[in-house]
Amino acid sequence: MLITEIYKSLQGASTHAGLACVFVRLTGCNLRCTWCDSEFSFYGGKKMSREEIFDEVIALSPGGGLVEITGGEPMLQEREVVPLMQQLLDGGYKVLLETSGERLLVKVPKQVIKIVDVKCPNSGEPDTFAIENLEALQSHDEVKFVLSDRTDYEFARDFVGRHRLDERVHAVLFSPAFRKDASGVRDSSHCLLDPEELAQWMLADDVPARLSLQIHKLIWDPAAKGV
Ligand code: SF4
Repeated sequence: MLITEIYKSLQGASTHAGLACVFVRLTGCNLRCTWCDSEFSFYGGKKMSREEIFDEVIALSPGGGLVEITGGEPMLQEREVVPLMQQLLDGGYKVLLETSGERLLVKVPKQVIKIVDVKCPNSGEPDTFAIENLEALQSHDEVKFVLSDRTDYEFARDFVGRHRLDERVHAVLFSPAFRKDASGVRDSSHCLLDPEELAQWMLADDVPARLSLQIHKLIWDPAAKGV
């Protein structure tokens, strides 16, 4: 498997936000979202066996706990990452999978909590969500929309309503996009969409979603890596 980094930090952008978590970041992505903050994971990486990755997770979090498989797009390495997720589950870990929603998710082990993006019009990668993935969603999963303006918001609001997403999954997340060159000040001024404005829209429309801020960018310098 090609791995960009394995590190321990706080989970930042889901209903698990704030919990200690080991991140396994796989190398490579087939999308190019305009606001992507993980471009460093597109190329390079270190070749590691499943056992080597598992050993590193154990070293960082020996007593079990939360592990997030992320990227890049982890499902590009489906043949190897699916057995890794199963091994982590068997080893007593709670496993999150963060994915763009473009790859089919039917082979992901059922106990894995999927955090699935639906790319919005201004992401630069609209219409990439594999609609078959709606059927792969389970009640413990989460669906995330990263929003940069009103057009994105209306797309997300209508998508949630049309597919009754809130009835399918544990949480629907509306997350303001962060400027990818953000650094220094740790506040929401780096958001492409003002969280206050988003909150007002969500309240006005009674959207069955939760506003989600990337808390690691409010705790550490938004440009910091490995946090
Ligand atoms: S899918 Fe994720 S890693 Fe890939 S370009 Fe988009 S935000 Fe970046």
